[in-house]
Amino acid sequence: MGNVLVVGAGGVAWASVHKMAMNADIFSKITLASRTKSKCDAIAASVKERTGVEIATAALDAMDVTATVALIKETGAEVLVNLALPYQDLKLMDACLEAGVHYLDTANYEPEDEAKFEYHWQWAYQDRFKEAGLTAILGSGFDPGVTSVFATWLKKHKLDTIRQIDILDCNGGDNGQTFATNFNPEINLREVLADVRHWERGEWKVSSPMTTKVPFDFPEVGEKNMYLMYHEELESLSTHFPEIERARFWMTFGDEYIKHATVLNNVGMTRIDPVMHNGVEIIPIQFLKTLLPDPGDLGALTKGKTCIGDIATGQARDGSGEKTYYIYNICDHEECYREVGSQAVSYTTGVPAMIGAAMVLKGIWREPGVWNMEQLDPDAFMDMLNAHGLPWEVHELEGPVGF
Ligand code: NDP
Repeated sequence: MGNVLVVGAGGVAWASVHKMAMNADIFSKITLASRTKSKCDAIAASVKERTGVEIATAALDAMDVTATVALIKETGAEVLVNLALPYQDLKLMDACLEAGVHYLDTANYEPEDEAKFEYHWQWAYQDRFKEAGLTAILGSGFDPGVTSVFATWLKKHKLDTIRQIDILDCNGGDNGQTFATNFNPEINLREVLADVRHWERGEWKVSSPMTTKVPFDFPEVGEKNMYLMYHEELESLSTHFPEIERARFWMTFGDEYIKHATVLNNVGMTRIDPVMHNGVEIIPIQFLKTLLPDPGDLGALTKGKTCIGDIATGQARDGSGEKTYYIYNICDHEECYREVGSQAVSYTTGVPAMIGAAMVLKGIWREPGVWNMEQLDPDAFMDMLNAHGLPWEVHELEGPVGF
């Protein structure tokens, strides 16, 4: 049915491309391109072995718009799935406009020299995509991504309005490493160490990273400490659902992670500006990334489950007053590894990227323009989550969260 070009060949692409190949009725032609072609070839070999499907591979520097346009034209792709890094988002959106294809990513644009998580750079493409009759889907991973679709589904089926929402991201997995991040270390640490912001009564409340800690008993995982942090979907949800009074994002971290991240930050190893070292300019966080385990290699070592979801409170659609719902997915690291050779964090990002691309290829999400996930009809996407390895549950809670 559809022809896709995936850019980036890291942990998320590994999971996503396997799932695309497992759905050959939707993805009839897959090309995987990245800076290092050997990584694309390794994914292609595993896809062939596991599914029998042949995918094409190519070397591509995604910062080179002309080269990307040429590759899009050569492959005849209808949608470009950006699973490279947030730094490439704008260049890849430019290439899609020039080549006339749809666009999808999993993380919002960040300038390399500034850890700012804001949508305005990508929202500025709205008119150009609209005029070109093309669709750009922003943030089709789990968070952002599924957590926004969950919010929209609750608003469509359970709640008239959402008064407050908490997004809870728990990785209850253990990979046996003293310190490792579960996706790209540079991007992960920039996010975790950023100033914390949450949305409350029309303004951003700012606090220090890794300071607000709450224990929470996660289904099938048990009690974990979760920390308040900023995450990009808080901006899009509070913009698109203006009735939200409070929106917060929480992520679980073990004590070892917090200890290491704090020390590395204190000694300057997470700096994103260049420093001179023995006459050579280095960016400390990039050097740190070289030293840390590659999250894509942790699949075989990781045991346990993730539990990611939303707790939302608002007026019930049936007029029965204020209600609170918890909607979440539980994903098992070892099952993901058995199925596609990835750990659950890559899987829970790669599968929604596959589903988002399928929604575009099937013509269900084809409105021209630039869209965050909560702006789109959730039903077919939610059905595909259940059918493709990320089943979800929704439960009514006794009342709003007490933290
Ligand atoms: P990795 O670092 O494992 O992979 C990134 C890939 O992009 C690598 O193959 C890298 O190539 C490639 N790349 C980097 N720069 C370029 C370039 N200029 N041109 C072409 N390719 C390039 O990252 P992950 O797979 O862990 O994450 C991928 C994306 O998913 C990130 O944007 C991340 O923020 C996002 N993410 C989103 C989540 C969500 O739930 N929404 C959760 C987790 C991640 P090379 O191998 O040569 O370095």
